[in-house]
Amino acid sequence: MLETLRRIVQEVSAAPDLPSALAVTVNRIRDTMQVAACTVYLADEDNREFVLMATAGLNPQAVGRVRLDRRQGLVGLVAERQEPLNLEDASRHPRFHPIAEIGEDDYHALLGAPLIQYRRVLGVLLVQHTAIRCFQSSEVDFLVTIAAQLASILNHAILSGATQELLNPLKVGARALQGVAGAPGIVIGVIAIPHLLADLDDVPDRLTRNPAAEEAAFQNAIATVEKELREASDRLAPLLPPTEQALFSVYRMMLSSDSLLGETRARIRAGQWAPAAWRDAVLARVRLLEQATDPYLSTRAEDIRDLGRRVLNHLRAEPAQPVAVTGERCVLVAEEMSVAHLAAIPSEQLAAIVCLRGSALSHVALLARAMGIPAVMGLGDRPLGRFEGNTIIVDGYQGRVYLNPDPAMRAEYRQLIAAEAERSTGLGALRDLPAMTRDGHAIPLYAKAGLLTDIAAAGQCGAAGIGLYRTEFAFMVRDSFPSEEEQCQIYRQMLAAFAPQPVVMRTLDIGGDKTLPYFQIKENNPFLGWRGMRFTLDHPDIFLTQLRAMLRANAEWNNLRILFPMITTVEEVDEALRLLAQAHEELQEDGWPTVLPPVGVMIEVPSAAWQAGQLAQRVDFLSVGTNDLTQYLLAVDRDNPRVAGLYDSLHPALLKTVAYIIEQGRATGRPVNLCGEMAADPGAAVLLLGMGVNSLSAGPASVPRVKWAIRSFTLTEAQELARQALAAETVREVHHLINAALRRAGLGEIVHEPE
Ligand code: PEP
Ligand code: MG
Repeated sequence: MLETLRRIVQEVSAAPDLPSALAVTVNRIRDTMQVAACTVYLADEDNREFVLMATAGLNPQAVGRVRLDRRQGLVGLVAERQEPLNLEDASRHPRFHPIAEIGEDDYHALLGAPLIQYRRVLGVLLVQHTAIRCFQSSEVDFLVTIAAQLASILNHAILSGATQELLNPLKVGARALQGVAGAPGIVIGVIAIPHLLADLDDVPDRLTRNPAAEEAAFQNAIATVEKELREASDRLAPLLPPTEQALFSVYRMMLSSDSLLGETRARIRAGQWAPAAWRDAVLARVRLLEQATDPYLSTRAEDIRDLGRRVLNHLRAEPAQPVAVTGERCVLVAEEMSVAHLAAIPSEQLAAIVCLRGSALSHVALLARAMGIPAVMGLGDRPLGRFEGNTIIVDGYQGRVYLNPDPAMRAEYRQLIAAEAERSTGLGALRDLPAMTRDGHAIPLYAKAGLLTDIAAAGQCGAAGIGLYRTEFAFMVRDSFPSEEEQCQIYRQMLAAFAPQPVVMRTLDIGGDKTLPYFQIKENNPFLGWRGMRFTLDHPDIFLTQLRAMLRANAEWNNLRILFPMITTVEEVDEALRLLAQAHEELQEDGWPTVLPPVGVMIEVPSAAWQAGQLAQRVDFLSVGTNDLTQYLLAVDRDNPRVAGLYDSLHPALLKTVAYIIEQGRATGRPVNLCGEMAADPGAAVLLLGMGVNSLSAGPASVPRVKWAIRSFTLTEAQELARQALAAETVREVHHLINAALRRAGLGEIVHEPE
């Protein structure tokens, strides 16, 4: 059974497209189980229907045409129950729903299994037989196992949009790829790939105008890899066993294969650029070899893929080809994106970011927010890299993108963009007004910043200073740790730009998802590992250098506040303060006129929340980092799109924790700032104001909207909202309360989605 399963799965995975994969599945299952018919129905969520998508044994004309209401018939029953259904005579079941055109009149026995992935029913797999009999448990096990495999293939197809094309071919131009909202805003632009990609599957499709140059580049890459292999084989021959040595000969044989090279050249001459021509020629062979039952041949598939990558690396080393999008508004698309990628693109060209991994709380999303450009994150396993130069709509509010949108969709989005521009001009008028409630209660509203390029946006958004300057970004865009002098210059520019308004500089907070290219930390659980203060206390050299740079930069302006990240114990604060005092004394000994600035502690870990009072007594202010506090309190990785639906800073447990921190701040006389993304959400900001928070810090792009919301409420209304939200039992209830309050205040257009 296992062997049969393995073969079927292998064959299905090697199928070139989804219809062929489904056809192979139903045919193989029918043959293996010796039944009369095997059929796959796929869920069409748009229309709440199941569509007959492949069959071996029923009327082939029914494929794509027979649609059942989601709750109809036995297919609907399998989906509803989410478990196998084994009937000796289906036609006698009360839910049996005969459909004339599918030709199942002679069938009695029926076994159905749902295709489920991540709790979603993606379809139903059915087998039917002419006899009246129950299926044996081994047959049920077989169908369930194959259904699980098929569900995972289907999930992949759904992500890449393939199922949508099959289910609703006419709606392709308006098809949205759903991800997670990373940063607000809407953009219509052209896909740009930040740099050539590492793997064959990621090579974008491009055409060449100069096939001769491409062919020459290809020839060079082949020659270089041949040379490398020869050298490596000479060098390693004495060290390797003969079987491993033989691999080099296999590689060299492949490299001289006329068919592989010839096919690549033919593709180049037909207009493909060399990396894509090579990709297609290699992957065609990989697919063939993967289908082989002989283990020797299937292992060769991995070898040829590896060889493909080596040649690709050399093609990438050729002088960079101009990206198809020069001069246009670029939507940067990548699987994962580092700050360095962003910094490398001229800011006037960078219009939006689309990241296949990550979530709303990834640092690239936070940076996009700070830069005021939309971002969509966590789109999953979609080969978007291949669509360089194609048009894309990025909807950073809904967390959606539309690839090659049809004219109607473009027109609709153009209208939305115009409406948004109009609204932000209106908000601009609030710039010089305070963030004050209708009954005269003002709350400092600060901006957040990460790079020096944020100075302009933060300065123009009408904030009262910088509530969180994430110093790690300046470390992330370099090739080595910046010196004290380099840091001092950066910090001085920041302080000078906002003086006399305060600038809260957070000491280096790396680890978790923020790694330095020149100091890689490899851990199984990076978010529970060597992060923030833990790292800097273990590296007093790095910490002291940073503190000295900050204190020196402050000498002229005296508007610095220092903030310690990722504090989990009081000892950490004591130690950090000791090092700060040491840096201060050393500077004074060296003749620098420094002062000790106010110091704060970030409360972003449950242990710190419950010791907020003790921590507050040691410092001058607290700053609540709800981005991390949410992930640690709810045990939801802030960067994992699979659990993104569970990540919500409006969770009642989080609200209660924040309320406790605010209470501790009040009891100790220390102000409490809130600098997580929650503060950038206008509805949540009003709620926090009602809970008694002393100040808020939001990205510059969000400051005007938050100010607008605060100015639309009275303090009493905000307090009433807080009272109700703190009594809520579910996240949904909290969203509902906020939405109702926003509507009452006339801000219905910014209610939370989904409620
Ligand atoms: C937070 O955790 O809320 C925070 C502001 O810090 P960061 O997002 O940089 O981890
Ligand atoms: Mg944090």
